[in-house]
Amino acid sequence: MKIPFVDLKAQLSPIRGDVMASIERVVSKCNFVMGEELAQFESEFAKFSGAQYAVGVSSGLDAIHLAVRALGIGPGDEVIVPAHTFIASALGVTMAGATPVFVDVNEDFLMDVNALERVITPKTKAILPVHLYGQMVDLEPVINLATKRGLAVIEDAAQAHGARKGARRAGAVGQLGCFSFYPGKNLGCYGDGGAVTTNSRELRDKLEALRNYGSTQKYHHPVIGFNCRLDTIQAAILSVKLPRLEGYNAARFQVASWYQDALRGLGDLILPEMPGEGRHVFHLYVVRTKKRDALLRYLQEHGVGAGIHYPVPMHLHGAYAHLGYRVGDFPVSERICSEILSLPIFPELTRDQVGTISKLVQDFFLK
Ligand SMILES: *Cc1c(COP(=O)(O)O)cnc(C)c1O
Repeated sequence: MKIPFVDLKAQLSPIRGDVMASIERVVSKCNFVMGEELAQFESEFAKFSGAQYAVGVSSGLDAIHLAVRALGIGPGDEVIVPAHTFIASALGVTMAGATPVFVDVNEDFLMDVNALERVITPKTKAILPVHLYGQMVDLEPVINLATKRGLAVIEDAAQAHGARKGARRAGAVGQLGCFSFYPGKNLGCYGDGGAVTTNSRELRDKLEALRNYGSTQKYHHPVIGFNCRLDTIQAAILSVKLPRLEGYNAARFQVASWYQDALRGLGDLILPEMPGEGRHVFHLYVVRTKKRDALLRYLQEHGVGAGIHYPVPMHLHGAYAHLGYRVGDFPVSERICSEILSLPIFPELTRDQVGTISKLVQDFFLK
């Protein structure tokens, strides 16, 4: 009996009728690009996120790319990015022509806010905290520091749709929040998609121009732009799924709680922190052990789809060799990359399946 890492089909079956009807509606109208369903989803997603505006874009990477550009950040400027994240957090900065400057993370996998001050230079223009694995960064000290030093805060919320601290949602605290709707994300569409949230009308207007050839009015192009729009069909599908997001996130939290109870106290296994429900929306459930590679092999041999997110820290990718970082520059990130293992987590994962996986992990450590 195999247990996949994610099971998108399990999520589709109960909403299949609604999803197909939403696609049918767009196909009938043939309003494939910038149709009314896009504007509708944008307003729903803004409301959900607690931001004034949301601008649909073509991917999470382009959300970051355009967010950096909307702030007027480009060549010669620096943006601070955690060394442990998915590569797109840094690539979005690079695509805008700016330079990512890396900073280490804490043992909780999130940006080390205390290390920020040391890497700020006169070229620094923004800080880009990543709510990695679905766990919301404590943004208060980040915002305080950014305000003091005149920097912008761009949240990478691509793994944290719906995460919140108190009443404030991921993506609505900094100047800009960047989301991905890649199929496997907490809120995913049926292809590539993304959005940027903001409370600034001016930034909203800039983003709308940047995603659409730099045009504010058809065939008038005051700025250089791109073709980075969210398809109407994807927006219509997202409108079907958005009302279910809180339920999906609650189910993920439940899965994490089951793991937490079953896996406590095994060998050198370190379990993720469980901040109050809501603060963590468990895009991934990530454990740590020095025996990571052997445990991964053991689970795969027994039909469990585990994974590593991510095996290489930002500063050691060939893509960023030109920045001149070395092994040892970000010790926590480097250690984390060699010890982390993501166990299957998705809203439809059953208690029995979590039991099967947990039993395998127990057997591995107790054998
Ligand atoms: C998925 C992801 C992105 C990029 O989103 P895409 O839609 O795949 O381009 C950016 N940052 C993080 C943290 C992600 O997990």
